[in-house]
Amino acid sequence: MSNKLKIGIIGSGIQGISNALFLQKKGFQVTIFDRDEPGSPVASYGNAGHFSPYASLSLNRTDILADVPAMLLSSTGPLALKWNYVPKMIPWFLKFILNTSKKKMMHTAKNMHQILDLALPAYDELFDEVDINGLVENKGILYIWNEKDLKSRELEIKVRDELGVKQQLVNKSEIRDLEPNIKPFYHGGVYYPYARHARNPKKILLKFFELFLKKGGKFNKTNIQDIQFADEKPVLKNDTQKFTFDKVVIACGAFSKKLTDKLDEKIPLDTERGYHVHFKDFDHLISRPVVNSNRGFGMSPMDQGLRVVGTVEFGGLENTLSKNRIKNLILNAKEMLDGLPEHQDEWLGFRPTLPDFLPVIGPSKNYENVYYSFGHHHLGWTLGAISGKIVSGMIANDNTNMDLKPYSSVRFA
Ligand SMILES: Cc1cc2nc3c(=O)[nH]c(=O)nc-3n(C[C@H](O)[C@H](O)[C@H](O)COP(=O)(O)OP(=O)(O)OC[C@H]3O[C@@H](n4cnc5c(N)ncnc54)[C@H](O)[C@@H]3O)c2cc1C
Repeated sequence: MSNKLKIGIIGSGIQGISNALFLQKKGFQVTIFDRDEPGSPVASYGNAGHFSPYASLSLNRTDILADVPAMLLSSTGPLALKWNYVPKMIPWFLKFILNTSKKKMMHTAKNMHQILDLALPAYDELFDEVDINGLVENKGILYIWNEKDLKSRELEIKVRDELGVKQQLVNKSEIRDLEPNIKPFYHGGVYYPYARHARNPKKILLKFFELFLKKGGKFNKTNIQDIQFADEKPVLKNDTQKFTFDKVVIACGAFSKKLTDKLDEKIPLDTERGYHVHFKDFDHLISRPVVNSNRGFGMSPMDQGLRVVGTVEFGGLENTLSKNRIKNLILNAKEMLDGLPEHQDEWLGFRPTLPDFLPVIGPSKNYENVYYSFGHHHLGWTLGAISGKIVSGMIANDNTNMDLKPYSSVRFA
């Protein structure tokens, strides 16, 4: 296939930019479209910054349904609903329930593991070309929990063991040695020493974007509203203009469904909304990201301060930020650390999530010149580089030993 092909990518989040950089490595001419400037406050900006290659077990797990009522009733818990959105989300929930059997849980875990295992080496190929000094730290990631939920933690530990994921169980005193400022509410945890974290996801994204432009990439700030076809070539349309390419990649995160619906695909993408706040100048209180597994949130030391981040809220793309979720993060953080000041920067972001908790990576079911790279839920930051590498290999017709069928949109046909 000629590497002179022109490729259009819709979306300049971590998925779009990573796809662009790997396509450029193969010599393709790439244009990125985004309705905002790269680094705008979308999911790729406000996440927890974890590079988490260990996180193969997703939320479609056998034990989750029994826990949901208690999670919803607790104001400090990890889960919330916007009630006005529940009717719209019922089809997604029903599909999700079907994906919580042991067999489906293991299917997701195995196929997440396949790509997660390659996630850090794929990033290293990109980091070789930019100066990430001070932006990525290699101090591991720590999860801690209280005894009450040990049973649920046992499932995670067992599944990860089965998949060969390296994990280091830590007791109270080992946790205290790692993070002496965390109040000792915990009874145990797990430490992933090889995990990394971003001190500033936006700056990393902008470094990648600079590299993209330096290599001759083009950027067009516009909202793509439709995709049509002329002689099988995809034509991207905004209000007034048309842009024709040999191939296009849809990498619009949680917003991708607006375009895939126009391609007669029935991809059940929805969003798990998540939040963050910053405690400016308090990043020194912890040395690495710490996740409170019982409460479903984490704290990451970042350039902006201590970023307290997480929780899952089902409520679609249109509802406004929930003050209760912000309060939940602040209260939870103050239960873990003494001396936190007033918070800053209340942020709401949209995780793109399919009911089987696998991303969609690969060609469209209906149009061979349209590719997808979205739906990476809680792990889209970790999976940026590897997804871009996979899609670029598909477009270049490279051979692969990987089984890529599990990520195809054909699974929803
Ligand atoms: C609270 C929270 C914490 C998280 N923490 C982590 C973590 O620690 N580690 C991890 O691996 N993942 C994490 N994630 C998940 C991760 O952030 C996302 O999966 C990932 O950022 C998605 O990237 P994306 O490029 O697919 O989408 P986005 O970052 O949402 O980017 C999509 C882009 O497409 C553009 N766009 C959309 N529609 C159009 C259109 N029609 N025309 C033009 N442009 C369009 C948007 O403007 C946007 O720039 C977290 C997410 C949240 C919300």
